[in-house]
Amino acid sequence: MNRENQQDIEALFPPHPEEPQESDCCGSGCSPCVFDIYHLQLVEWEKQCSEILYSERCYSETSDRRSYKPLISPVKFSQFQLLSVQQHTHDTFVYLFQAITASPKKDPEHHGTEYIHVRRPLDIKVGQHLIMKCSTNENQNSALTRAYTPISDLKYSNVGQFEVLIKLYESGKMSKYIQNLKKNDVVEWRGPCGNFSYVPNSYRHLLMLCAGTGIAPMYPIAKSIVENDLDETFLHLLFACKGFEDILLRDEMQQLSLYWNFHAEIFLSQVESTIESQTRYGECVRKGRIDKAVVNEYLVGKVLQQVFVLVCGTKSFNKDMINYVKQVGVPDDNIHLF
Ligand SMILES: Cc1cc2nc3c(=O)[nH]c(=O)nc-3n(C[C@H](O)[C@H](O)[C@H](O)COP(=O)(O)OP(=O)(O)OC[C@H]3O[C@@H](n4cnc5c(N)ncnc54)[C@H](O)[C@@H]3O)c2cc1C
Repeated sequence: MNRENQQDIEALFPPHPEEPQESDCCGSGCSPCVFDIYHLQLVEWEKQCSEILYSERCYSETSDRRSYKPLISPVKFSQFQLLSVQQHTHDTFVYLFQAITASPKKDPEHHGTEYIHVRRPLDIKVGQHLIMKCSTNENQNSALTRAYTPISDLKYSNVGQFEVLIKLYESGKMSKYIQNLKKNDVVEWRGPCGNFSYVPNSYRHLLMLCAGTGIAPMYPIAKSIVENDLDETFLHLLFACKGFEDILLRDEMQQLSLYWNFHAEIFLSQVESTIESQTRYGECVRKGRIDKAVVNEYLVGKVLQQVFVLVCGTKSFNKDMINYVKQVGVPDDNIHLF
């Protein structure tokens, strides 16, 4: 087969997924691993190719092939520049990142690298997460990776930006790296990862059960639903925090509560005093934990096939919540754990 023929045939099929190199794997056991993602992409690609072969339809350049290389890939780390850091609560911060391309400085007097902001869509869907790599250590074998969930909406994603809300732990390995980040520093990210996909109006009720930074995937999902006039799903968020100073995205939740279909209840497990003086107008704050009785109270009287449950928190929180909703009778297929 000559080269032109081969190019003609290749044009019928979607582009072959890019195979990661050994150096793209950080070796720190991150989940999902770049090689697992590549394998899934390969299976999907083969399926698409065989569909094309047997249906005699051809691959549509305009509908599927991107005219640009994606700015972020699930299998390869890409560089992003830190645009700003904003303190959110005593131990959480919002970091805004921008997609960039690096090129050598044009000015012969000044050596080094120039970073150009790339303002194109990132294509991150609500509820998906990204993986950050700590690049302080040159030794690939000791690279560190952690998952973080963008809280920003499509407006940011369309200009190559995303925001993450990160809690810093005193003894946390990645927390130490993040703590030292400064404006304009370059950080490596890959993604998006995660298989949550939302179809408007497919359930009557969406119950969100979260603790601490587990609010991160819930917020953009809730925002996208309430802002969609055609989506009539009722949202109910049960949010577990220690005290008032640990309530994350508090202003944002108040904004969501202005919509007819969003209601939030905040549970504070470590408050001794009365809560009325610190509760804001329109806010629903309760003392205690989200236990079986609280979950039952919400689910009682609802058609459980019409309820979809999202869970995101610590391991023990997730285990408890899944047990509670299953015991009431929510079908397994109606539960998503982030
Ligand atoms: C899919 C996914 C999405 C995530 N999204 C976010 C996000 O948007 N924002 C965010 O801040 N984090 C998020 N995380 C958690 C994040 O990936 C890290 O685990 C966290 O930042 C701690 O990393 P570290 O290296 O600093 O701490 P490590 O060195 O891993 O842990 C040190 C110590 O910190 C404490 N610690 C660490 N993580 C937790 C935790 N989750 N709960 C309670 N104590 C903990 C423990 O005491 C632990 O012993 C997400 C995790 C997953 C799996």
